[in-house]
Amino acid sequence: MSTKRDYYEILGVSKSASQEEIKKAYRKVAMQFHPDRNPGDKAAEEKFKEAAEAYEVLNDADKKAQYDRFGHNAFGQGRSGGFNGGGMNMDDIFSQFGDIFGEDSFGSFFGGGRGRGQARGTRGSNLRVKIKMNYEEVAKGANKTIKIKKYVRCSTCQGNGAKDKNSMQTCATCNGSGQVKRVQNTFLGQMQTVTTCPTCSGEGTTVTNKCISCKGEGRVYGEETVSIDIPAGVQEGMQLSISGKGNAGERGGGNGDLIVLIEEETHPQLHRDGLNVAFDLHISFPDAVFGTQIEVPTIDGRAKIKIPPGTQSGKIFRLKGKGFPQINSYEKGDQLIHINVWTPQNISSEEKTILERLSRSANFEPKPEKNDKSFFDKVREMFN
Ligand SMILES: [Zn+2]
Ligand SMILES: [Zn+2]
Repeated sequence: MSTKRDYYEILGVSKSASQEEIKKAYRKVAMQFHPDRNPGDKAAEEKFKEAAEAYEVLNDADKKAQYDRFGHNAFGQGRSGGFNGGGMNMDDIFSQFGDIFGEDSFGSFFGGGRGRGQARGTRGSNLRVKIKMNYEEVAKGANKTIKIKKYVRCSTCQGNGAKDKNSMQTCATCNGSGQVKRVQNTFLGQMQTVTTCPTCSGEGTTVTNKCISCKGEGRVYGEETVSIDIPAGVQEGMQLSISGKGNAGERGGGNGDLIVLIEEETHPQLHRDGLNVAFDLHISFPDAVFGTQIEVPTIDGRAKIKIPPGTQSGKIFRLKGKGFPQINSYEKGDQLIHINVWTPQNISSEEKTILERLSRSANFEPKPEKNDKSFFDKVREMFN
């Protein structure tokens, strides 16, 4: 399903590249495909967006670790549509440039005048939560509702930090634009640069009287109930990022993200092995000889399996499609049932007599056929 290119390949860096090298590589690619340099060129625009997405992931230690582990699957479009990854819009991309190209926005560097928009307040920090998923939830996906203690927007001032309407004034330095223009002479010729207004920190307004509830911060410590859609097929250690559900920013600044760390609960009988589920089934010696039908647990209820007469210990039965789903895919693993024939550990004298008689029978002598696969062949088969 993935036609997406490898992020490292897009930026032309190796997996071991440092943050500084990644930043440099991105800068180079972004300059080359910048829309202002390639007007009307759709292919260049796609390359530009692709590079921005690659950088967004590789520049973030958490996301990079996720990507290294799970590839593009780490950021697939969740069912809620709230997960990050893919489809960055141009505004997101240009807002990235602040950290890469310094104070001056990329747009003005090329004289394009593509504003970053008025920055209000300071963005809130990201929050992390752990969510436990049992096997059944991993198999089907789950909706979890959790209460999170965090900074929320102040309801008294609606986040602007001012006591009332009259306590907000348009900034006199920038006339409310939040930006100050400057003309500089450089080796590239005369260049107009735009910097954040030093008086209002880019907010365009100043507060004369602060809101009492939040002391002018625009946010208060409280809690929020968040509903999280977790797609089927997640794994221990996987992280999902839900944008805008982290801490509220100061004075109307954007919210941080909520990072959800998946913890997988173990199952008393089933054992996860990638997409497959392993189960140890113990059967009695008579059942192995005569054959029987037995119910076994699966990650989705119980299933009946048939044990044919003459089943050997070590035999593996496969329940096709009864394993875990691959995240964002229709692919599914299998359940592997490993047969163990139970050898009695305590027997009565009567049983002993019967067994002694049986042990002289030729039928009880082990005669493995050539097509009885060895343990090693079976293990090899299991992982194919
Ligand atoms: Zn307030
Ligand atoms: Zn200002």
